[in-house]
Amino acid sequence: MKPQIILLGAPGSGKGTQAAKLVDSLGYQHLSTGDLLRKEISSSSDLGNRVKSILAEGNLVDNDTVLELLSSNCELGSKHYIFDGYPRNIDQAKCLDESVLKGAESKAVYLHINLDDLASRLVNRRTCGSCGEIYNLISKAPKVEGVCDKCGKSDLTQRKDDNEETVVTRLNVFKESIEPILDYYEKAGRLVTVSASGTSEEVFEKIKKITEQ
Ligand code: ADP
Repeated sequence: MKPQIILLGAPGSGKGTQAAKLVDSLGYQHLSTGDLLRKEISSSSDLGNRVKSILAEGNLVDNDTVLELLSSNCELGSKHYIFDGYPRNIDQAKCLDESVLKGAESKAVYLHINLDDLASRLVNRRTCGSCGEIYNLISKAPKVEGVCDKCGKSDLTQRKDDNEETVVTRLNVFKESIEPILDYYEKAGRLVTVSASGTSEEVFEKIKKITEQ
């Protein structure tokens, strides 16, 4: 049985890229609380309107709201998920175990990267609005400027919170919260740390092995 994967890592550590590979080759479902929140914002739902400014500043949305959104988008019975962007604090880690996973086998995979490299990764990140492919203007630029290599659409956009000011806040929020979360999974014997500094293929090979153990 494949484990449920809790993908931990700083903003820009490559969680989204790795999650897409796990979906394509191993049949996982990608559950990103950031994506769910952004979807609510773009549909101007009540929840979306409530959290819009919090995301723009780079701060965390309250635990109840995120848990509600996560639970209503997750059917654990037969599916295998990659939890991306959740948990972001100890209360969320406990909620994930108690209210969502409820004993299902899971592993926490921490994509470890030097935090000094991340600000530039983030401000240079672009995402295809049509197919979701992720680019980086420095390390993985599209062949034709503004056009997605994968689907051919001219729809490459920058996330609103990938500007310099918000990136600093997001990285600080991460630094303040990650240690206790790692500690929680380490004590439970569920933590695997993977270096995220190789190519995305190298990182993926390591994660794939974890799902097979
Ligand atoms: P990143 O990890 O690249 O910063 P995400 O897409 O995971 O970005 O999240 C974007 C934003 O959504 C966060 O900065 C935060 O405001 C909000 N968010 C996402 N997940 C959570 C969560 N589990 N708890 C609280 N806020 C969250």
